[in-house]
Amino acid sequence: MKTQRKIKRDASATLYEEAKQYFPGGVNSPVRAFKSVSGPPLFIKSGNGCRIFDEDDNSYIDFCCSWGPLILGHNNEQIRDFVIDTINKGTSFGAPTKLGNQLGKLILDNNRFIDKLRFVSSGTEAVMSAIRLARGFTGRNKIIKFEGCYHGHVDSLLVKAGSGLATFGESTSAGIPDAFIKETIVLPLNDPKMLSEVMEKHGQDVAAIIIEPVPANNGLLLQDKSFLECLRIKCHKYGALLIFDEVINGFRIGFEGAAGHYGIQPDIITYGKIIGGGMPVGAYGASKAIMDHVAPDGPVYQAGTLSANPVAMAAGYAALQQLLADGFYETLAQKTEDFIKIILDHADQKGYELSIPHIGSIFWIAFTKEEIKSAEQIDPASMEKFKILHHELLQRGVYLGPSGYEVGFVSAAHKQEDLEEAAAYICEALNEIEW
Ligand SMILES: *Cc1c(COP(=O)(O)O)cnc(C)c1O
Repeated sequence: MKTQRKIKRDASATLYEEAKQYFPGGVNSPVRAFKSVSGPPLFIKSGNGCRIFDEDDNSYIDFCCSWGPLILGHNNEQIRDFVIDTINKGTSFGAPTKLGNQLGKLILDNNRFIDKLRFVSSGTEAVMSAIRLARGFTGRNKIIKFEGCYHGHVDSLLVKAGSGLATFGESTSAGIPDAFIKETIVLPLNDPKMLSEVMEKHGQDVAAIIIEPVPANNGLLLQDKSFLECLRIKCHKYGALLIFDEVINGFRIGFEGAAGHYGIQPDIITYGKIIGGGMPVGAYGASKAIMDHVAPDGPVYQAGTLSANPVAMAAGYAALQQLLADGFYETLAQKTEDFIKIILDHADQKGYELSIPHIGSIFWIAFTKEEIKSAEQIDPASMEKFKILHHELLQRGVYLGPSGYEVGFVSAAHKQEDLEEAAAYICEALNEIEW
């Protein structure tokens, strides 16, 4: 295969310079600034199927997929048509709509783990609301989270493990009051012993344990099922709620997300990303007994001007309906498997220290052969290799999220030949790294 050389980023560079006058760092979400890879960020003009096109008219096979929502690829015909149809009747009324019912029913009819849900407009909002609900339901304040899980930019969750004792956290952002940090306990992933010790000490004060059951925001840190079961048992034992943050897992690892994959019943589940079919939608759901605590039925307040607006509901409905087709997830997982195998076979043949942890259509390129299950196992030095890989892939027309800590996504729009083409470029790009 001939190596493509696509090096012009002039239009993107010019737009980026302009954007810096308007937005902090020139962007509206930090990772987009390309700080940990080289060159200016690409300004994307359009997307179709598995490809995106930048303002310099370069095309890329896209494995970022808007950070996960686009499980059907870009510009999906059914989503587009239904959205346009809906937009023709107005965008938002701040009143209930039939479309909201339809999406709610579609989700609840096909999910054994929640009885009711509430739509919001982002993953962060879903998590923030779920935390408030857990606190309102239990009358307790403390939250346990895990190092290496991301839950959006919720104040009390922008906390990482401090040096020393696991129970003393440090904020990962300025502007978080110490009083909030004190209510958050940060533990290492996949460590049932540490969890037991901390629950023994603080269990009576813990409102909720929150986890990404398949942590996919800091590498892909696949957990032992027994660890997730341990969370379930400890929450029952101490009367805390178990929150699965499925903003990235939901509708990705099967329609029922990670709860369905592992067969574990959490108390509250949060959704985002795929649920909106590319529009801003989030949701949190739980049993009827827990959701009865949400206003106006109960005392936990939560509201939203644009929540469940019909355009977003239409996009979500048109997307999720397609995911229910027979064999949808099996086909996607098999394609992902085949794609990864091409790369791994090449890496093994060359003796590269590389592995690609994956589940369903999520994959992560790890520059080690070690099995990685917790954040501290990731070697920051390996990110230099990712930087080279990222650069070489842009030259060849393959787009990965601009950080080595980010996972990649395969969509239903990636056809076998697209994946074979991308895999060949990835093999070439790996050859450019000094191992
Ligand atoms: C993306 C993500 C969030 C935040 O969602 P936003 O829509 O970006 O606010 C929260 N939790 C998890 C697990 C995520 O992957």
